Amino acid sequence: MTGPLHADAARLRAQLLELAGNLWWSWGIDGSSIFHALDPERFETSGHDPHAVIAGLDDARLVRRVDDQGLAGRLDEAVDALRAYLADPGTWGHAHAGRLHAAPIAYFSAEFGLHESLPIYSGGLGVLAGDHLKSASDRGLPLVGVGLLYREGYFRQTLNAEGWQEQSYPVLEPEAKAIRRVEVAGAPLEVAVETQTGTLHAAVWEVAVGRVRLFLLDSDVPANAEADRSLTHRLYGGDERMRIRQELLLGVGGLRALRAAGIRPGVLHLNEGHSAFAALEAAAQHIEREGMTLSEAIEEVASRTLFTTHTPVPAGHDRFHEDLLVEHLLPIAKRLGVDARGLMAFGRVHPDSDDETFCMTVLALKLSQRVNGVSYLHGRVSREMWHRLWPERPLHEVPIGHVTNGVHLPTFCAPRMAHLLDATLPEGWREAQSEPETWAPIRKVDDGALWAVRQGLKRDVVHEVRRRAVAQARRRGEDPSVQRALESALDEDALLVGFARRFATYKRASLVLEDLDVLDALVNDPKHPMRFVFAGKAHPKDDGGKRLLQTVFRASRDPRFLGKVVLLEGYDLGLGRALTRGVDVWLNNPRRPLEASGTSGQKAVLNGALNCSILDGWWEEGFDGENGFAIGGGEVHRDVALQDQRDQEDLVRVLREEVAPLYYRRDASGRPTAWLARVKRAMATLSWRFVADRMVRDYAVGGYFPAGGVQLTEAR
Ligand SMILES: *Cc1c(COP(=O)(O)O)cnc(C)c1O
Repeated sequence: MTGPLHADAARLRAQLLELAGNLWWSWGIDGSSIFHALDPERFETSGHDPHAVIAGLDDARLVRRVDDQGLAGRLDEAVDALRAYLADPGTWGHAHAGRLHAAPIAYFSAEFGLHESLPIYSGGLGVLAGDHLKSASDRGLPLVGVGLLYREGYFRQTLNAEGWQEQSYPVLEPEAKAIRRVEVAGAPLEVAVETQTGTLHAAVWEVAVGRVRLFLLDSDVPANAEADRSLTHRLYGGDERMRIRQELLLGVGGLRALRAAGIRPGVLHLNEGHSAFAALEAAAQHIEREGMTLSEAIEEVASRTLFTTHTPVPAGHDRFHEDLLVEHLLPIAKRLGVDARGLMAFGRVHPDSDDETFCMTVLALKLSQRVNGVSYLHGRVSREMWHRLWPERPLHEVPIGHVTNGVHLPTFCAPRMAHLLDATLPEGWREAQSEPETWAPIRKVDDGALWAVRQGLKRDVVHEVRRRAVAQARRRGEDPSVQRALESALDEDALLVGFARRFATYKRASLVLEDLDVLDALVNDPKHPMRFVFAGKAHPKDDGGKRLLQTVFRASRDPRFLGKVVLLEGYDLGLGRALTRGVDVWLNNPRRPLEASGTSGQKAVLNGALNCSILDGWWEEGFDGENGFAIGGGEVHRDVALQDQRDQEDLVRVLREEVAPLYYRRDASGRPTAWLARVKRAMATLSWRFVADRMVRDYAVGGYFPAGGVQLTEAR
């Protein structure tokens, strides 16, 4: 090998590693296209992992690919842009977050959905947390994330030839990703949490999410007993004992990790109750370090803690039996000066009821002064559910509000659409994305330009669906005729409806397939044909969810629907992004009011797709009659079977009588003018409200700043 080649390669490799070392590559620039261009095959087979691409290129090939693809200039620009982003002194957070810069917000979550190459999330809760970090970074808010490093992550999904879900758990090697050990005084950081039956240890890693640091705890260290090394291997696996040990590491270990790294959080934000032990640990620290009494410490912690609840059903809240709680929390109880009974009282609605298990949500409610649900409707449902904790107050005075979820625009808005927005919206629109005026010009955008973008996005998704569907059928060893049909699956000229989310039963994935003759009439309507694409994972222990998958799979192999109703396996952030960008209609039919917010439909909005949804979660407040489609009128029936039947009937009616006719009504140039008008209205009325930028600013202004003692000098 010659010297200059080697020097070139070393420089390029350093640039690529700098870029891949911060997840900003996945949203701040079109980083995917760079890593894809370097090695398309490896980028795809590795699940879009830039480190796999970099590691797979030897020096000679690296230099050649950069030359062939003309990437040198783009790489220089990308690295410069990353450095400029990280160094920018002019952010909103810089101007407004005051003392929080010295004492940041600590955001705790059991999962973070940042990118498909980092599978430490299972669904919406994680994606929300990932979007929260990214938007906090974009805004320059001083915030650190705390989570767990799941080395086996959430599972990889395949469907067998019968359409039954199978799980596998590829092992994540942190060293091979953008994950670094946190070091303190030159030594890798490890934290310990003592229990009644031994001490748990965890290594502390960190991921750079733009300007935000995400700390991840990992129990797979030699200091742990063999059985505890696998504690954090899997997300939502294991039994109750495993869960409490994970949650102990997350909350208590997480807070200790921050302190050990020299971070004294000024505000705690608990994203769901899993991490609520952090608040008990914080109280114990106040007692020890500042000599507070228990009630002073609790009050101090509560004044600085925000709790976001996500679960609209009582059964969905994390609960632990007394023996497990005592085994794991008694050391903290002692520091708080309470006995086992006093400890249990933190997690009981009625402190004296001995048969009540310990509820993490109750703990979080008692130790947070600021509590919110994740949509207007969910706030109301949560007030009703927890009224028992404040029995003396009228319902509307139960101290639970709402901050409606939003999605991270740079992650989910496709480059094609972003270019149109660049040409249409005022300069600086990204910084002003949560202001309604910013989006007003979209109402006047040229139909031809908008339609061209929409059709381009649809072509992209149709190709992606075909590619995946064919590969999956081949792997399953399905009949060549099936593979051939999938090679030309879907149709760029037919109305395309998408449905992708976790296959939890309340989301009713198979609702539109309840009656296959009715579906046949929709799909094979000669004038108004319709195509469907589905994806989603069922929890490994949820046979009900797996049966829904199988129902969809079987329909997709029915000769009437082959290539017209497609089910893709392997739902993850990447597939979710692709589908929400390209379909015409995003379908959402949960059993009201069980979808606390839902966010996938918000991703669709940013790409000009229309939502067709039950009036639940965010859609209840987003729908205005003309910016999408509503299924039902928000009714809830006591009889679940009746509710399902009514919703199914109305869903079919809306698709047949409202959605399809509007889509197929064309002007002289072949464009669906009325449809496009609705798309524009959707973007103008929904985009600014349901982005994570708006959400994070709501949390900051309404929660973080007052909790952290920051005066907001300039109203936003
Ligand atoms: C956006 C997203 C979700 C959330 O979808 P809902 O429709 O809100 O349930 C779940 N999983 C992935 C991978 C996502 O990208």
